[in-house]
Amino acid sequence: MSDYKINTKCVQAGYTPKNGEPRQIPIVQSTTFKYDTSEDMGKLFDLEASGYFYTRLQNPTNDYVAAKIAELEGGTAAMLTSSGQAANFFALFNICETGSHIVASSSIYGGTFNLIAVTMAKMGIDVTFVSPDCSVDELNDAFKDNTRAVFGETIANPALTVLDIEKYAKAAHEHGVPLIVDNTFPTPVHCRPIEWGADIVTHSTTKYMDGHGAAVGGAIIDSGKFDWMAHADKFPGLTTPDESYHGITYAEKFGKEGAFITKCTAQLMRDFGCIQSPQHAFILNLGLESLHVRMPRHAENGLAVAKFLQNHPKVESVSYPHLEGNKYYDIAMKYMPDGGCGVVSFEIKGGRQAAEKFMKNLKLAAIETHVADARTCCLNPATSTHRQMTDEQLLAAGIPAGLVRMSCGLEDKEDLIADLKQAFDAI
Ligand SMILES: *Cc1c(COP(=O)(O)O)cnc(C)c1O
Repeated sequence: MSDYKINTKCVQAGYTPKNGEPRQIPIVQSTTFKYDTSEDMGKLFDLEASGYFYTRLQNPTNDYVAAKIAELEGGTAAMLTSSGQAANFFALFNICETGSHIVASSSIYGGTFNLIAVTMAKMGIDVTFVSPDCSVDELNDAFKDNTRAVFGETIANPALTVLDIEKYAKAAHEHGVPLIVDNTFPTPVHCRPIEWGADIVTHSTTKYMDGHGAAVGGAIIDSGKFDWMAHADKFPGLTTPDESYHGITYAEKFGKEGAFITKCTAQLMRDFGCIQSPQHAFILNLGLESLHVRMPRHAENGLAVAKFLQNHPKVESVSYPHLEGNKYYDIAMKYMPDGGCGVVSFEIKGGRQAAEKFMKNLKLAAIETHVADARTCCLNPATSTHRQMTDEQLLAAGIPAGLVRMSCGLEDKEDLIADLKQAFDAI
């Protein structure tokens, strides 16, 4: 598949049925797999042969879909997880342990921020947050001897900042550690971070990849480029024998191309068990089959809505990286020349009350704690996710009370704009 264009890979990569086999990916709805001899099964446990024995570790449906996502991102191996949260946790914890340190962009998804700043801190893993726009010197200053990974989001949810992937990759590599990029918002249709130097890519497949608000899930993709052995002292989990897994040294046995995902499956999936259900993987694949058709429409609608909002007298400001004049316009065009995503945020004049009234008047855009599916939805953090905060606290956190985050779906853009228009007229 690897010579085909991304549009073809979205439809056909990952699963090639043989003569007489199902055309659609089969849902292997089985927790377990049968063997004729204990010896046969033993080879699987020893990672001597590849195959399936228990769905908590691996399942064929999930592997077909993971293989497709690996091809879409241009990686050598991939795995599915039960959620985007699990994907980011696994990607980091696969190479970090108590005493490790992470350098992370401060502009990331709230759940990931909490995961790193609070929960992983309890495990003794330290973090330094840096602004996505920091200078090269500021970025380099964030590293310590025990730094093991750098983390950022291509387009951050919900801040809509854009990560300068090459800058972050260069700094990571100069310090002998990999760059992990959460590529949920643009998807590989609009940005492939590995082509710009990222080593590991993660996804909340719950968002555009599924694209229909139907199945929570996550994915981790390895570029196969990071040389663990060249930095063996930093990554003992990959470069020394795993006594919990028959003394295997992952980087030796599976090389640069396979070590990261094999360890993540054999160790973290075994012990934490955050597997995606085969049903969800099947649903995810239906989404992937049209990802290349949907993403340009999401981006087209996002840009049209951003342009409309920019000129509206009741709007204080608009944030959309692909809108000319946006702070991130140039780097958005560098990394995502064909467009970004459908998420736009804007501040309504008149604060919390105006935002609440405006949203109540919307007919097409529903109020939801979600982004990135086929139906347009919106959220006012001040009256929902951040409602415990005062207006002053909100301002300090960079979330004005009148801020609305809108995720433009796949409807007709003229209908979406007309809906916004009538809702503004009513306030
Ligand atoms: C939603 C989201 C996550 C978390 O994913 P879940 O599937 O909800 O666990 C992580 N990163 C980004 C950028 C997201 O938008």
